[in-house]
Parts: sequence; C-alpha cells; structure tokens
Amino acid sequence: MEAPALSLARLGRTKVRHRCSFRSAVASRKQRDLRGQDAPVQLDMYLTAVHEAGHAVICYAVGLGCGEIALTAHILSKGAYGGTDGESGSGMKAGNRTGDAFHRGEFNQLLLGNAVLAMAGMAAERKAMIGLGVPPHVAAGASGDRALWNDVAKIYVRQDRRRTKFAFAARVWRIVQDAVDDPRIWQAVLHIARRLFEGLSATTFRKRKAKIRHALPGRAAVATMLRHGVRAGMLQPDLTG
Ligand SMILES: [Zn+2]
Repeated sequence: MEAPALSLARLGRTKVRHRCSFRSAVASRKQRDLRGQDAPVQLDMYLTAVHEAGHAVICYAVGLGCGEIALTAHILSKGAYGGTDGESGSGMKAGNRTGDAFHRGEFNQLLLGNAVLAMAGMAAERKAMIGLGVPPHVAAGASGDRALWNDVAKIYVRQDRRRTKFAFAARVWRIVQDAVDDPRIWQAVLHIARRLFEGLSATTFRKRKAKIRHALPGRAAVATMLRHGVRAGMLQPDLTG
C-alpha cells in the first residue's frame, strides 16, 4: 500500500543512516602514530571496524541494502587518540521504506530487521573479542544503536500489552547471535572489517587535532558479501516468534 504523498515526500529527504559513537577505554591514550605503535589503540580501531561491518552485513542480509561504511578516528591535541566512530546505512530505497514503516507505527518484518541490525554491531564486536581472547565488554557508547532498537521496541510493545521490551531484547539478541554464527556472515564481517581497519590505520597521522575518516563504498562491501555467500534478504527472522 502506498503511503500518503506528503509523508513520502518528507521521508524522501531523510537520509536513513545510523551512527555509532564510541568513547572507549583507550580514548585519550598517547601514541606516536596510527600504524601499529600502540596495540590497545589498534585493537580499539579494529573492534570498531568489526562492529560497523557487523551492522552492514546484517543490514544487507535482512534485505535492507548496504550503503557506504565509514570509520572516523579522532585525534586530540598532541596526537592523543580520542576513539573511533563508525557509520553505515542501508540503500536509499530501503531507507525510505524503513522511514515509512516507522511513520505508520506498525510492527512488521522491516522494523524487526532494523532491530536486528541495530544489535548486530555489538554482537559482531563481542564475537570478535571472544575470538581474540579479549574479555568481552558491552559497547556502552553505541548510543545510535540503542536509539534505533528502542524506536522499534516502542512500536512492538504498543501493539500488545502482554509484550515487554525485556523479552523483545532477549529475542532480538538471540536472532543476532545466531546470525553472526553463520560462517558466511561471519567471514564477510571479518573481511570487510579488515579492509576498513587497514585503510584507516594506513592513513597519514597528524600531530594536531584531526578527524581521520576512511570509507568503503557500499558496492565494494556488497561484492565481498556475495563472495562469501551472503545474499540480500537471506535472513528473515520469524515475525511471530
Ligand atoms: Zn553500532
């Protein structure tokens, strides 16, 4: 069903994009450059790359497309590391459909997909930490993720009084953890993360306050996913579960 022209026109101008902002434990750490001088900084940047790749691969797998994926490292004065932010988004058409679904306020497959992709960054990061033998911590700074998840959860509980956000969180987390355990998805996440991390850490370091951004075009990320067997829409979580 077509949405009213007015809302579509309004939503058409809205760039549906999600941003994760981290201020991790290693922020403000002094280091000489971004190319391997400091292992905790490298690990922080790599885990942020895994987090963002997790969002992007799950976004594509639930059928919401894949736009540009980017990391931005913040360099504070005198070369101190101030953490790395990540951003990723769906394709423009999928973004419009999502905006429209939020506008209608009716829980559906598209909104469940958004809740799943919102948690995908944390799930990917956690799996990578376990794999590397690093004690897993919660990505507490990922406020964009919580906001997106919360927008869906509100619509979900509003439709049935017996529903709780707690149960919804547990269910979405289960779906996401199963998804990142799929070897096709996980290999695609690791490859994309490696490209993002290598691109960022190879960038020339500056000894003054700066933001160093490295982006991977959506089409390059999709090519990597397809090579690993990830298909658009292959992940269709059960709406009624
Ligand atoms: Zn995130």
